[in-house]
Amino acid sequence: MVRAVTGERGKAYRCPGCQQLIHPGIPHLVVIIEGDVEGRRHWHTPCWKREAARRQR
Ligand SMILES: [Zn+2]
Repeated sequence: MVRAVTGERGKAYRCPGCQQLIHPGIPHLVVIIEGDVEGRRHWHTPCWKREAARRQR
C-alpha cells in the first residue's frame, strides 16, 4: 500500500532506497508494507519506483 504525501511538518525521514534524508516539505511517498514490523517507511518518489520495479521481478 502506497500513499503520496506532500511533505510533513518539519520532520525529516531517511529514505531506505538511497539512505539520504527526505527534507521537510518535500513531496514523497509513505509506503505501508503488510507484515512489516516497522510499519510505514518514507521513500523518495523515484527511489520507490525503482524499488517497486525490483520487487515485481
Ligand atoms: Zn531516496
